Amino acid sequence: MLHQISSDDHGPLGAPMTRAIEACVHCGFCLAACPTYRELGQEMDTPRGRIVLMKEVLEGKLPIESAQPHIDRCLGCLSCEPACPSGVPYRDLISPFRAVMQSKMKRTWMERFRRTLTAQTLPFPARFRIAAYIAQWSKCLRPLLPRSMYPMFDLVPDHLPPAQAWPEVVPAMGQRRARVALLIGCAQRVLDPDINAATIEVLTHNGVEVVLPASQGCCGGLAWHTGDLAAAQKFARQNMDAFPPDLDAILTNAAGCGSAMHEYPLVLRGTEDETRAEVFRQRVMDVSLFLSDLGLLPGLFAEQKITVAYQDACHLANAQDVRNEPRELLLSIPGLELRELANGHLCCGSAGSYNMDQPSIASSLGKQKAQAVIDTGARVVASGNIGCLTQLRLHLSQAGAKISARHTMQVMRDALCAKDQSS
Ligand code: SF4
Ligand code: SF4
Repeated sequence: MLHQISSDDHGPLGAPMTRAIEACVHCGFCLAACPTYRELGQEMDTPRGRIVLMKEVLEGKLPIESAQPHIDRCLGCLSCEPACPSGVPYRDLISPFRAVMQSKMKRTWMERFRRTLTAQTLPFPARFRIAAYIAQWSKCLRPLLPRSMYPMFDLVPDHLPPAQAWPEVVPAMGQRRARVALLIGCAQRVLDPDINAATIEVLTHNGVEVVLPASQGCCGGLAWHTGDLAAAQKFARQNMDAFPPDLDAILTNAAGCGSAMHEYPLVLRGTEDETRAEVFRQRVMDVSLFLSDLGLLPGLFAEQKITVAYQDACHLANAQDVRNEPRELLLSIPGLELRELANGHLCCGSAGSYNMDQPSIASSLGKQKAQAVIDTGARVVASGNIGCLTQLRLHLSQAGAKISARHTMQVMRDALCAKDQSS
């Protein structure tokens, strides 16, 4: 697409944004893949429409107010990237655009309050735990609060598991085959710490030593996807300092975190840390990809007669191109039957803080995803992202379905546990 954006106009993020705009040939192949187009049916809520809007804002031809509602409605699910025959790197446009335009975006005081509250609690486990307890205790006050606050309450589970603590190093069982570090996340650590416990168990049973650096922090994804560049850079630097160099890989078990960490070179573009971020990025991988590359030890699992539907997390499938590996790992459990979801490529509507920012689209997508899971007839739905799991749990429960939403590593760990008990 032709444009009149000067590469000097928008700082270090200007060049990747203009490259993405130039790559778009306006063909429209991405439209059918875009969940907001399927929901709203209008051109300005498609990838192609948004690229035009962002181009015109960056050219100075369109006021940001005209584009903002459509940019805000983008889930950042990146379903448009694999659908695009021209290889438009949409991720190089949407988050940088939000960062560059952040100070110009007009927001109501309630939106600002909600965004600040989320930014100041979610990335910090201790604060988030307190906020989650307060939300639990005040669920009865829900009808007195503005409707826009409801999703914040709905997403907090009725029961919060106790905090878990791990040593800085968990040794491999048997002969050590690899040494990795694990990002233990922030919201995940509060909402479902068993995901980390399961990940560590699966890794150590496979001869992998797991390092858990105490100084690690939030991946910065929430800040980056909501346009807070300074906060995203701070989190990126904190993590690059926290993880030691003598590792075979830095693992993530939350798709959103892994995707954000792969974007550190973009987050730190034009700073003295850009090269370091590129080296760091190459060491980061999802735990399912790592285990698949390493290979599972033989005879690890006991037979599990269960049907499992696998839900692709957008930030694993679209952002990191990890699709087959989690399926192959699940299928390595004897007796497990895997089922696919109809329209599996569509986002579940969780997308970081999207549930709170765009509750009606998020809820519609969540309901559709829950129905797709129910339609498979599976007893369990597995996914590789805490955001998807929280969204699935909410909508499956609202639909009255008794289907448990588990992380891929939890399903694998349960097979290990069964083996331990039977041996
Ligand atoms: S498919 Fe790619 S090139 Fe075609 S309109 Fe969409 S983003 Fe542009
Ligand atoms: S990131 Fe998702 S919601 Fe946004 S334009 Fe692409 S497909 Fe549509």
